[in-house]
Amino acid sequence: MTKPLPNSLRNLPDQHGRFGDFGGRFVAETLMPLILELETAYEKARNDPEFFDEFQYYLKHYVGRPSPLWLAERLTRKLGGAKVYFKRDELNHTGAHKINNCIGQILLATRMGKSRIIAETGAGQHGVATATVAALFGLPCVIYMGSVDVERQQPNVFRMKLLGADVRPVTSGAATLKDAMNEALRDWVTNVHDTFYIIGTAAGPHPYPAMVRDFQSVIGTEAREQIIAAEGRLPDIAIAAVGGGSNAIGLFHPFLDDPVQLIGVEAAGHGLDSGEHAASLSRGRPGVLHGNKTYLLQDADGQIMEAHSISAGLDYPGIGPEHAYLHDIGRVQYVAVTDNQALEAFQLCCRTEGIIPALEPSHALAHVMNIAPKLTDNKVILMNMCGRGDKDIFTVAKHLGEKL
Ligand SMILES: *Cc1c(COP(=O)(O)O)cnc(C)c1O
Repeated sequence: MTKPLPNSLRNLPDQHGRFGDFGGRFVAETLMPLILELETAYEKARNDPEFFDEFQYYLKHYVGRPSPLWLAERLTRKLGGAKVYFKRDELNHTGAHKINNCIGQILLATRMGKSRIIAETGAGQHGVATATVAALFGLPCVIYMGSVDVERQQPNVFRMKLLGADVRPVTSGAATLKDAMNEALRDWVTNVHDTFYIIGTAAGPHPYPAMVRDFQSVIGTEAREQIIAAEGRLPDIAIAAVGGGSNAIGLFHPFLDDPVQLIGVEAAGHGLDSGEHAASLSRGRPGVLHGNKTYLLQDADGQIMEAHSISAGLDYPGIGPEHAYLHDIGRVQYVAVTDNQALEAFQLCCRTEGIIPALEPSHALAHVMNIAPKLTDNKVILMNMCGRGDKDIFTVAKHLGEKL
């Protein structure tokens, strides 16, 4: 990768953790020393070639990177327009991009001498990835999960238990992801000395959004090299699904200074006007949650609303602050697709490419299906296939009226 120029979009955040008006660290005074300790440790690690080598070692030999870049030829022919490539992050160990970030954070935790890992999880994917790396490094691990989600996501709860994690149901609030994250932050303040909090997306107080982005940027860095090798040039469009925004910013960040159109796809659930969606940028307003300022789904009183999506991984009422900034300056375009559109894309992908995608990237694919036919065949679209769909077959079966 080239080094960012002085006025590059890749230089953010500033020293206060701000992306323009967004980001920052809005945390209780008791949390501040922890956040500052983490920032110092991360600053040191990211400038240490040994840390980078270690990170690369685990990505290569444990995660299975680099993930391939796949020209989806049958899909391209079927859509009859732009050439479509998939970045195959669904082939990673544990089946999604989340492990990239977990490896980076647990390496930092061990450097900092921390001996206990905590994390929040919604659908359970980040919980499983965290429990995986905790097992790998032999550290005890507590996963906070809303009690509603514990009921909805039994297979992932059992996976975490198999991996040795202690899954703690959270009953406060709506008993979902937002409440699990609050509880994890409380645990962190109480267990200052030995605990490292592995946040699962590019959100939270500074330095998390920047740190998670840096770890996930391996996706875009690899994809940029791979597409240049395949096509002799940059793609015209790069596209990814957006929940909290970590896989999307990981794909986008290495392309921010390039003449590449970037598109983030939010979950429109039952429709943007139904009140049941997870489209924080399309329908949210700026506010503060989980230690940073960003776009949030909130009611007229500023209360955080429950997000809805067929895809549990997109079901977060906020979005990472860097996306909020890239949205406001117009560098990245954000669109939204519904549950039904994602289901269509899911099925098309299974049948034309022999890949069962997760429901999250099925949202990105649904938008590819919208735009590819309108483009000429010399255009190139790069889409992040950020997760595999084994976890989603029960949800899909239910929507298709199939009994398993
Ligand atoms: C968790 C998850 C997401 C959403 O998280 P981001 O931080 O927005 O990437 C998307 N896709 C998959 C497969 C996931 O597991």
